Amino acid sequence: MSDLILLRYGELGLKGHNRSFFIKKLRQNINRILQGEGNLTQAHGRLFFHPAQSPDRAIARLQQVFGLVGVAPAREVELDWEEISGAAEEMVGKKDLPEKTTFKVETKRANKSFYLNSMEISRNLGAHLLQKFPQLQVDVHQPQLKVQVEIRKKAFIYLNDYPGPGGLPVGTGGRGILLVSGGIDSPVAGWMMLKRGIDVIPLHFSSPPYTNERSLEKVKDLVGVLQGWGLKYPLYNINFTPIQEELIQKVPGDFLTILMRRMMIRLGNMVAARERGKCLITGESLGQVASQTIESLHSTGVLANSPVLKPLIGLDKQDIIKMAQDIGTYDISIQPHEDCCQVFVPSHPVTRPRLKDIEEIEKGLDLEEKLKKAVADLEKISIEVDSS
Ligand code: ATP
Ligand code: MG
Repeated sequence: MSDLILLRYGELGLKGHNRSFFIKKLRQNINRILQGEGNLTQAHGRLFFHPAQSPDRAIARLQQVFGLVGVAPAREVELDWEEISGAAEEMVGKKDLPEKTTFKVETKRANKSFYLNSMEISRNLGAHLLQKFPQLQVDVHQPQLKVQVEIRKKAFIYLNDYPGPGGLPVGTGGRGILLVSGGIDSPVAGWMMLKRGIDVIPLHFSSPPYTNERSLEKVKDLVGVLQGWGLKYPLYNINFTPIQEELIQKVPGDFLTILMRRMMIRLGNMVAARERGKCLITGESLGQVASQTIESLHSTGVLANSPVLKPLIGLDKQDIIKMAQDIGTYDISIQPHEDCCQVFVPSHPVTRPRLKDIEEIEKGLDLEEKLKKAVADLEKISIEVDSS
């Protein structure tokens, strides 16, 4: 008999060779995210995590592993009726049952060699528990307590099945470069693409001394939260100051934001080429601000050498805030900070820039060397993960 955590990973939408690739990634991710917390085994369409200490912490971490749909602390026993009913009885007995508790037993039998079928197991175990616990009452529709039994090579019994985050294992979709600010939106965008299996590299543009150390700390904290969700990379930080200073000198104020955005896309292209990134990711949402109109998005999008994924494009700010709260980035994002783009924001940025006008302005700039240097000097900042 032993206690473990039963992990369900859903269908992952795939068969054959791809399926084993997905499961391999999933296992790697679990091992990375739960390093030192226990060990992982696999048998017959299930993964099992054996926590080294209390399972609570491991459960919370596992609920952040994309690809998992269920996380259930379970007891493993031999395929033997006495053992199964004894374990279920002990587990239910540990619960503080109110005077009247409705319950049901649900059985899955993957191993047909066991002499009782699933109906019989549910019925017999239900009767056994009813006899031992007078507080119990059967309700097959909306039970307060669900006793679940899985019959495999061994039997597994569990009372709680916590939801996993779903999605696809991080790393099954190739690498993408996330343009991450200290704001609310881009960390959520990164989370959404991690959830679809993209191996996200976080890239930030800072403008010292216009933006201070605290702003960078904030972005580091945000990336730290995303690391809990399977992001593997350190924070890539580019010093944007020399580029920005030239723009401020030479570009009319109302075009400043849009030109800064174009420089960010160019730098994103260069980092993607270096890191074999297959896409860029931004936190833009249509119409949210002047630089997020269709015209503005077009003027940045045309420069990209790969798809620019904007998972928040159709969401309202309130929806994004709600997601940020659930993910754990919101409280960090709302701390005051300066962003490189906010420091010199004009009061009336152009909302419908014409590409022709933008290109005309850019003719007067010579930023090639500065862009190259910015990428050559890119700094990778590793993040101390709080392991409490
Ligand atoms: P966020 O909340 O992510 O800052 P936002 O609504 O404030 O987004 P903008 O400031 O217009 O939007 O920025 C649009 C997108 O450009 C951001 O979502 C982000 O992907 C990228 N971006 C903006 N500033 C930076 C920065 N300093 N470093 C990296 N990417 C940035
Ligand atoms: Mg912002």
